[in-house]
Amino acid sequence: MFSSLIGNDLVKVFLRRHLATSRVPNAILFAGTEGVGKRLFALELAKAFVCRNKTNDEGCGTCPACTRSGHFELPRDDDREALKKVIFSNHADVGMVIAYNRFILVEAIRDLEKEAYFRPYEGNARFFLIDEADKINDAAANALLKTLEEPASTSHIILITSRPDSLLPTIRSRCQTVRFAPVETEKIEQFLIGERKQPAADAKLNARLAFGSVGRALSIELEKLRERRETLLRVLQDAIENNDRVSLLQTAEKLNDAKNKDNFEDNLEILLTMIRDVWTLALSGDYEKIINIDLATELGRLAGVAETRRLAGWIDEIELLRESLAVNINRKVATDALFMHMAA
Ligand SMILES: [Zn+2]
Repeated sequence: MFSSLIGNDLVKVFLRRHLATSRVPNAILFAGTEGVGKRLFALELAKAFVCRNKTNDEGCGTCPACTRSGHFELPRDDDREALKKVIFSNHADVGMVIAYNRFILVEAIRDLEKEAYFRPYEGNARFFLIDEADKINDAAANALLKTLEEPASTSHIILITSRPDSLLPTIRSRCQTVRFAPVETEKIEQFLIGERKQPAADAKLNARLAFGSVGRALSIELEKLRERRETLLRVLQDAIENNDRVSLLQTAEKLNDAKNKDNFEDNLEILLTMIRDVWTLALSGDYEKIINIDLATELGRLAGVAETRRLAGWIDEIELLRESLAVNINRKVATDALFMHMAA
């Protein structure tokens, strides 16, 4: 049932209304940030058609048909042969197309075209999810267009993407678009406490670091993050209070050494959240708005002595640095330069 999913209440209202009037579109585009639950909503919609024990037009979530339709054994993402086909769940009417490397294979879309033509085997309709639909290249898009133009009345295709603008307009215009919003921080917090049994203080921090994405919240390893934040907090202390260039350069060294190299981008992002927090506190004093809530006292103290103009400059500089990491820059030189500016 949709009530088991977190956030996006407007999407729930929209889908329930369509279920109640039996007018669920045959081609739907689920668009919204990564990790807000688009796939889960799509599977929930499918359950409403395969469930053997429906309540208020929705799937019960517990009958064998519901359970099977939510269970996929996905192939490895480099298994080209397997990804040339629709991957079915344990239910014969619910399947998914997944990209092979950077693209969705045209063979997979042709397979979907064939499958979408068949009548349902056991449910009331067939559901096909196309995950990361923005990875459809031109050849696959042309194959898909045919299916979207003349859909079988008992087949539904749900395109899922966090980059709707990358889809061809011809594809977009044939789908009913449903937009997903980031999930509210409080709802993620409640979910982490209620469903994931996280201690309240952990959930509070974790939810704020998720930026509206439940998927992201679940991928964060808090203990490791706290450990790394220690080092980055020292950067702020050295730059704002101690004016300690030697210590800053040592930290720059540490962030670039072999052990931390892979976390470099993440570390920059954590540093950015902390600078923004100090900046927010210096401007508004509003502790509810900060992300690193467990460091509130220390960040508040730093906010008391920091110049907001300098903080704003660092934020710009780190954002620029993050952009230039996409092209091949020397990270060591760039980090040293950033930290030296921060000490100036
Ligand atoms: Zn059911």
